[in-house]
Amino acid sequence: MNIIIFGPQGSGKGTQSSLIKEKYNIAHISTGDLFRENIKNQTELGKLAQTYINKGELVPDQVTINMLQDRIKQSDCKNGFILDGFPRNIPQAEALEKIVNIDAVILLDLDRKVLINRMLNRRTCRQCAHITSTDWLDGKTVCPKCGGELYQRDDDVLEAINTRLENYDKQTKPLIEFYGKKGILGTVKGQDKVEDTFALVDKEIQNLIRGK
Ligand code: ADP
Ligand code: ZN
Repeated sequence: MNIIIFGPQGSGKGTQSSLIKEKYNIAHISTGDLFRENIKNQTELGKLAQTYINKGELVPDQVTINMLQDRIKQSDCKNGFILDGFPRNIPQAEALEKIVNIDAVILLDLDRKVLINRMLNRRTCRQCAHITSTDWLDGKTVCPKCGGELYQRDDDVLEAINTRLENYDKQTKPLIEFYGKKGILGTVKGQDKVEDTFALVDKEIQNLIRGK
């Protein structure tokens, strides 16, 4: 089972992907996380990607496509995977089609003002990668799951956020029509609580898989 989840930045793709991964026992592939891992380890790929990411720009397609192609060869992808952050434009979607078959595509749709606040308040655990929000932390500064240190992403600052949202409108939104035409797109309004949104996401996945 191969799934794509997409939607604007801050729509909760990462959080929903973790839940899908757990329920269906498939790999969660986040191209953003892969880049951040490479930046942390200061690999050649990481150094290259960093210059784009901190400005809120996309990493060049061929670099991203090669990285993804390597990742889906790994053994944890044998039951399938959920792609989070890829494809992010039509050329990437076309390249993906040549590599694998996609069963379902979920679009998380949200109002813009909610997105910006979510990104500004987003915090990530250095230790277990849990994503949380200052809205839920009640003033606490450590991870509610493991007690690890929380950090704010370098690109979750207003200027980079605006560039990322503009890029989404220009480059990623056309995927709605691309996958809509193929009849494998399901849309979920992602503004509710995490569990309520997941119930809707899961229902769409089931419908799309059954409809095949
Ligand atoms: P967001 O969706 O909030 O931008 P991600 O963690 O998915 O966060 O991505 C962070 C950054 O990594 C992006 O702004 C972009 O620079 C880079 N990136 C991630 N996925 C891709 C991709 N598919 N193509 C090009 N760049 C990407
Ligand atoms: Zn943690």
